[in-house]
Amino acid sequence: MSEVREVTCIVCPVGCRVRVWLEGGRVVRVEGNLCPRGAAYAASEATHPVREFFAVVRVKGGDLPVVSVRSDRPVPKGAVLSIVRELSRVRLRAPVRAGEVVLANVGGLGVNIVATRTVKRAERGPAARDAFEPPPH
Ligand code: SF4
Repeated sequence: MSEVREVTCIVCPVGCRVRVWLEGGRVVRVEGNLCPRGAAYAASEATHPVREFFAVVRVKGGDLPVVSVRSDRPVPKGAVLSIVRELSRVRLRAPVRAGEVVLANVGGLGVNIVATRTVKRAERGPAARDAFEPPPH
């Protein structure tokens, strides 16, 4: 059985609306793309959509309360929510160095989540920030 998926190409600012025909999960026809790059993108998006993954992770005892992170390669679109959930349980302790793997093989996908900046240890004293500490119950 064939099915048609519509994909907006994001490879360049033109934003072509590309239609992809699938039969048994295989791409059999692509239309609407102005160039071959769009055909490749739309075929991939229609069969195995992936996303660049960016987030922030909580850091205790740092000069910043969170550190920005990203995946070291695109992740399957369907896995994004489970990665967010997994990361929400992570609490790092400063210092965190840019490039440091903060979560390895997330979701068993073979993808690592990596810090994109450095968070230094905070000076001792009241200025030290432990962000997002839940209020005492
Ligand atoms: S199909 Fe080609 S021209 Fe159209 S948005 Fe994609 S890259 Fe740009």
